[in-house]
Amino acid sequence: MQRYTISDALVLRRAPLPSGDVVVTLLSEHGKWRAVARKGRLPGGNLARLSLFHDVTVQAYRRREDDLAVLTQVRLNGALPGLTRPESYPYAHLVAELADALSVDVHVGERLLAVVSSGLRGIGQHPDPEAVALAYAWYLVTLAGLAPLVHGANPPRCDRCGAPATVLAAASGALRCIEHGDGPRDAFLGEDGAQALAMALAGPLRTSVAQPPSERGRAWRALHAYLREHVGEVRALQGLTQASP
Ligand SMILES: [Zn+2]
Repeated sequence: MQRYTISDALVLRRAPLPSGDVVVTLLSEHGKWRAVARKGRLPGGNLARLSLFHDVTVQAYRRREDDLAVLTQVRLNGALPGLTRPESYPYAHLVAELADALSVDVHVGERLLAVVSSGLRGIGQHPDPEAVALAYAWYLVTLAGLAPLVHGANPPRCDRCGAPATVLAAASGALRCIEHGDGPRDAFLGEDGAQALAMALAGPLRTSVAQPPSERGRAWRALHAYLREHVGEVRALQGLTQASP
């Protein structure tokens, strides 16, 4: 039995095969899925419509439930503006890769598409795409139910001793004082960095975008250390943690 579906989707990942076919990872309202576009088989033959971050409507069919979907039509609704700017591109990549990684085991629900689209739009248009990316990255982690534990507010405190938190204890997933951290894999944030992270986790997004951490290198390294423990390696972060002082 052949089953045709039509969905709106955002292109999260795109992998060209040696055959000329392209495998894309798409994010729709019902979740993340993969599909293949066969070279020369799409009407109009235009695989460029399936570029990264494009907002598309696709028709697909599956012969059986467990088959990779085959795209039979692709309509481009729009490309989010500004994402190919060199100052935006690495951050757009990060948000797409993170959304992909977070939606493997966890059912993040319908809001994921809306949040990722809004994050990408912000990264393309905001004068400070780095601040947008940091805020959205932590927001996505929170949406997936994987947020670190924050004890107290203004300033956040170590849950063991009540001292102001200065590190993100990566394995325990908690903001703590340096003495009660887990050890070498922890990320040092300082009091102001811990406070900025607590704020990003509490939301709203608008506030955390407007008040980014002053030490961004630390903030990226903390995100990287945390994701490594709780989600997996996010390759787009490697470049960002190396580039930031
Ligand atoms: Zn402590």
